[in-house]
Amino acid sequence: MNCLFLSMLDLAISSERVITPEGVIKATVLIKDGRITDIVNEQPTGDFSVINAGNKVVMPGVIDPHVHINEPGRTDWEGFDTATKASIAGGITTLVDMPLNSSPVTTTATAFGEKIKATKGQLHTHCGFWGGVVPGNEKEIVPLIEKGVLGFKAFLTHSGIDEFPNVTEEDLRKVMPIIANHGLPLLVHCELSNETENRPSTNATSYQNYLLSRPKKWEDDAIALMIRLCEEFNCRTHIVHLSSADSIDQIVKAKQKGLQLTVETGQHYLFFNAEEIKDGQTQFKCAPPIREKANNEKLWEALKKGILDFVATDHSPAPPAMKEIQPGNFMKAWGGISSIQFALPVLWTAAKKHECSLMDISKWLCEKPAMLAGQQNSKGKIAKGYDADIVVWDPESSFIIKDSGIYHKHKLTPYLNEELYGVVEQTFLKGEKVFDKGKFMLNKGNLILR
Ligand SMILES: [Zn+2]
Repeated sequence: MNCLFLSMLDLAISSERVITPEGVIKATVLIKDGRITDIVNEQPTGDFSVINAGNKVVMPGVIDPHVHINEPGRTDWEGFDTATKASIAGGITTLVDMPLNSSPVTTTATAFGEKIKATKGQLHTHCGFWGGVVPGNEKEIVPLIEKGVLGFKAFLTHSGIDEFPNVTEEDLRKVMPIIANHGLPLLVHCELSNETENRPSTNATSYQNYLLSRPKKWEDDAIALMIRLCEEFNCRTHIVHLSSADSIDQIVKAKQKGLQLTVETGQHYLFFNAEEIKDGQTQFKCAPPIREKANNEKLWEALKKGILDFVATDHSPAPPAMKEIQPGNFMKAWGGISSIQFALPVLWTAAKKHECSLMDISKWLCEKPAMLAGQQNSKGKIAKGYDADIVVWDPESSFIIKDSGIYHKHKLTPYLNEELYGVVEQTFLKGEKVFDKGKFMLNKGNLILR
């Protein structure tokens, strides 16, 4: 290496275990002006900071493309300040905010402007945005794209937020050609409810009844519709939070045909099983629901085979009162799980039991989500020219989730008191250390606009 080059460095991070596209290697990551300039074998010396991470894992920062921040308008549910602070404590260097549950919802360019304004002085991690598709907003699609959304989100069933009504096939036929034309993805909540089916009406505290109220068939029917439209319009289509393993076959067939279809599942579908959820434990309520172990093991198999592309939290908190913990009423409780801070250790803890590797984790939490968000040329890899968004973590150490260590706005989470492997030690945004064992450097996040 030549000295002139080294004198131009800002930072070098060395470790026995650096996750690169070629594998987990002993290496030093060289950083200048927020970018990775090289990955080398030797430990360089010079007039710059050197961090020796020893045996700790140096990985690309986690990218979570499925996060509900709720600001402006419902900041009492979750806000940019708390969600993005929790993110850097968990090694998440980029998140993409969903177009609901803020007020206004992000379905017009004007509302998107308000959203961007609300982030001011509050972004502690990098943040991009999905725009929303609702009935009648087809004229807003292009203005939202011009203002910088990374893609769009739609629901096929009631979203839980009245201002964000679900779309029908007819609505999607109007917007999918426009979205396809811009090469952006359409993310879809896939549940097609059939109200004529029997819905359990008694014992609202029963988890089994809640599970029966949102059957796999709802997901399977919705996914079949989206595969059909994906093919017809050649529009990038992304199934969010797959829970029904019965849809794996149709996803395989669609991918074999070469359709532009991607699929995520959520940490909670891989970590918990319905059999363990007790009646009244509404902190586990989400939609689609956490299903039985036999189903979830099939999700694991599909993830390992690459049929499912990646894992995202769907962090969707609400004030504790809305989770109806006291009555434990599943039918009334808000459906959403609070979890962004624990995306990495939850997945790693469950992945260890399924004989998965550090490379798998990096693919599922960094590389593949970067592609959905269109950031694959700058984020999601430790490679020359990529942004120096990095997490240093210890996969062999464990910790127990306690209220005092949670940075989300609300502490209520089904992961409380779980022992998780994978302690996040340091987080870097564009080469700047923003989290170091409980200490924060705030306001270093950037807006990610297309
Ligand atoms: Zn969601």
